[in-house]
Parts: sequence; C-alpha cells; structure tokens
Amino acid sequence: MSQTTADVVIIGAGAAGLMAAATAGYAGNRVLLLDHTDKPGKKILMSGGGRCNFTNLNTTPENFISSNPHFCISALKRYTPQHFLELVERHGVDYVEKAPGQLFCAGKSRELLDILLTEADWAGVDLRMKTRIEAVEATASGVNLATSAGRIEAGHLIVATGGLSIPTLGATGFGYDLARDLGLDVLPLRAGLVPLTLHPDLKEHLAPLSGLSTEVSVTTGGRTFQEPLLITHRGLSGPAILQASSYWQAGEEVVINWLPRLDLKAELTRLREQQPKTSLASWLAEQLPKRLAATLVEFLEASQGSLPLRLADFSNNRLQEVAAFLQAWSFIPAGTEGYRTAEVTLGGVDTRALSSRDFSVQACPRIRFIGEVLDVTGHLGGYNFQWAWASGVAAGQGLEA
Ligand SMILES: Cc1cc2nc3c(=O)[nH]c(=O)nc-3n(C[C@H](O)[C@H](O)[C@H](O)COP(=O)(O)OP(=O)(O)OC[C@H]3O[C@@H](n4cnc5c(N)ncnc54)[C@H](O)[C@@H]3O)c2cc1C
Repeated sequence: MSQTTADVVIIGAGAAGLMAAATAGYAGNRVLLLDHTDKPGKKILMSGGGRCNFTNLNTTPENFISSNPHFCISALKRYTPQHFLELVERHGVDYVEKAPGQLFCAGKSRELLDILLTEADWAGVDLRMKTRIEAVEATASGVNLATSAGRIEAGHLIVATGGLSIPTLGATGFGYDLARDLGLDVLPLRAGLVPLTLHPDLKEHLAPLSGLSTEVSVTTGGRTFQEPLLITHRGLSGPAILQASSYWQAGEEVVINWLPRLDLKAELTRLREQQPKTSLASWLAEQLPKRLAATLVEFLEASQGSLPLRLADFSNNRLQEVAAFLQAWSFIPAGTEGYRTAEVTLGGVDTRALSSRDFSVQACPRIRFIGEVLDVTGHLGGYNFQWAWASGVAAGQGLEA
C-alpha cells in the first residue's frame, strides 16, 4: 500500500471542503482533498434549482439555528457575503438577486462549482475522488488515515463531510461518527428545510390541489415565516413550509395564516357594509387560488357549521370566528419527507468543544470540523452556503505547523 504525506488532509469535497482546501493551499500548505464519490460539489450542482443560491447579502447570525448561537459570529464576520461575491465577480460569473439579498447564478450552478475547482487547482490542491476513509487516528504530530488509496500521514485534518441530507448525493454520517470517536457530543440530528407530510384525512382534501401556491405566513416552534406555500401530492412545501420545518418538532402544531396581508376581521366588516350581498366564498375566491378557497370554505363549514349566504347575514361574532379560522388554521403534520429531500440536517457536532476562530477541536487541536456537519444550520436563502464558505476560510487559515 502507498503512503502519502500532506500538511493538511480534508475529507469531503463539497462547498466547505473546497473552500478550506483553496484557502489552506494558498497559505502554502500541501493539501490533499478526499471524497468517496466520483464528482466533487454534487450538492452545489443541485442547489437553488440548478442555479445555486450561493449567498445572502443580508446574512446575520440570526439566520442560523444552533444550540450555541454565538459560535458562528466570528467566522461570518471575518468572511462576509461581500467577500464571496468578489470571488464570483473576479471569475466573471453572472448572478441575479432573485429575492432581497438572495444571490443566484444567472446561468448554471456548474459555473459556481468551477470557481471553487479552479481556485483549488490554482492553490495546488491534490483532489482525489473515489477514496474511502477506513480509519482515522489522531497522533501527537497530526493524523494518520487508512484509506482505500493507501495510508496518509498529515499534520492536520479538516472534516467537511456535510450532513445526512440526500444520501444519493454522497451524504454519510462519517463526520458525526468520527466526532463521537473523538469524544465530542453530536446534538440530535433531524431533517431541516424539508416538506411536511400530512395525515390521511387532511391529505385526501389537499392532494387534489397539488401544484397550487399562495403566500401565507406559517408559525411553529415560536417562529413565523411569511413566504409562498406550495401544495404537493405528498403534503405541503414551498419556502414558508421549508423554513418552518426547521423549527417544527414532531407532534407539534403548525399554524397557517392564509391571508397574511389582511386584517381579516376589519376587512370582512368593511365588506359587509359596502357589499352586503357578496358571499364569503366568492370573496375568498378572489383572494386565493379558487380551488383552495373552495376547500377552505369546506373546512370552515365542517368546523363551524354552514355559512350564511350573504355577508350581511354574518354576526360580528361569526365574522370574528371566520377571520380567526382563516388566519390561524392549525394542523399537526404527520412528519417530514426526511433526509431523502431535506436541504439540510439540523443538529450535529456540538460547537462548544471547538474554537470559533479556527474550528479546531479544543481537546485535539490538529482536527477541525466545518460546514454542515456542525450544529449550525442556516435558514433558506443562501445562508447555508455562506456558512460553508465562512467556516471553510476560517479553518483553512492558521494551519502552518
Ligand atoms: C437539493 C439541495 C439544494 C440546496 N440549495 C441550497 C442553496 O441554493 N443555497 C444554500 O445556501 N444552500 C443550499 N443547500 C444546502 C447546501 O447545499 C449545504 O448546506 C452545503 O452544501 C453544505 O456544505 P458542506 O461542504 O458542509 O457539505 P456538502 O456540500 O454536503 O459536502 C460534503 C462532501 O463530503 C463528502 N463525504 C460525505 N461522507 C464522506 C465520507 N465518508 N468519505 C469521504 N467523503 C465524504 C460528500 O460526498 C460531499 O462531497 C441545498 C441542499 C440541497 C440538498
């Protein structure tokens, strides 16, 4: 078996690993970047619907979920969205701001991945795909790795193996297992930014509306997101639901405001005066996709009894009940679609055992963990890549022996 030596070995050629590799390489280290799949950066290619939402200009620590919320501050401050944008511009890749702050490639995600591969190449990184890691041993002077391509001896190890989401793209629990072997805590893992599934009785009513989308606000776990919701044949999705899913705990309620831009009680009261002959159903069908409006009226009648035909015949109390129903419609999801479709994995390596400056393990300073494998998870909108870039840069620095 061959024996390779390197200053730094990085496991995981995804967003964070590529960024760390280029940074460490430019700093003069001999860098070996290993991955068990056949191609680097597969999630980058899939991301943002093929256009990679590569950062968010409005990134703040509040856009991240972590049981140690201060941990991300230092790295995010030192490598900002503006820094990454400069890199994108230097490579001449066009981008668009689709929603406020959310930057996407104007062309394909491939162009973004090519930036990282080019940088890694320029920095002299030795990228080796299809390499299985069989064992990791921490030594006084660094790490020894047993791999399918032989033994590797390195001064430092950076673990950038990501989360469990989308196993078909190469996700494994390797980083979590290694962290546990090193005596670190791994905080409970669950799928995040993921569609919610419905119990059969609700699914039966909503599945026929599959494809309909409308802006709502969704509240769960103490957080509210006002964005589009999409009904699918499996349940509910769209940005509002994906965001809420990261705060949802099994068995808890999710509350939807179907008309988040209106003070509904006041609006219906005004309408009752000005257009007394209008029916609630016909008014609702002008505010929401027609079939969704009809289904909500069915739900309303099932819960509160049949509705008067004309708004004129609604009492104040009844208007109040209708408004409360449509603006705080609650249900308990059956679950989520799980890691098969989740964009991220919540939980992960407990950051309390790591330096927030360089991401090294306090008890084992030659080993660093970065990216999604950590207990730091971004909201939807380019934050997760910004975390990959920022943590990659922080860990790629200061590795000189
Ligand atoms: C469909 C989809 C769309 C997304 N869209 C966006 C978006 O538009 N914007 C955004 O900010 N975020 C998006 N995300 C989230 C984002 O992709 C991740 O947060 C980010 O890629 C995490 O970077 P990472 O380097 O930590 O992990 P990854 O990018 O997942 O990289 C981990 C690497 O480690 C390798 N690996 C795993 N196990 C092993 C092992 N045992 N041995 C060797 N190698 C291993 C994997 O093959 C992979 O190459 C999306 C995610 C998904 C799934």
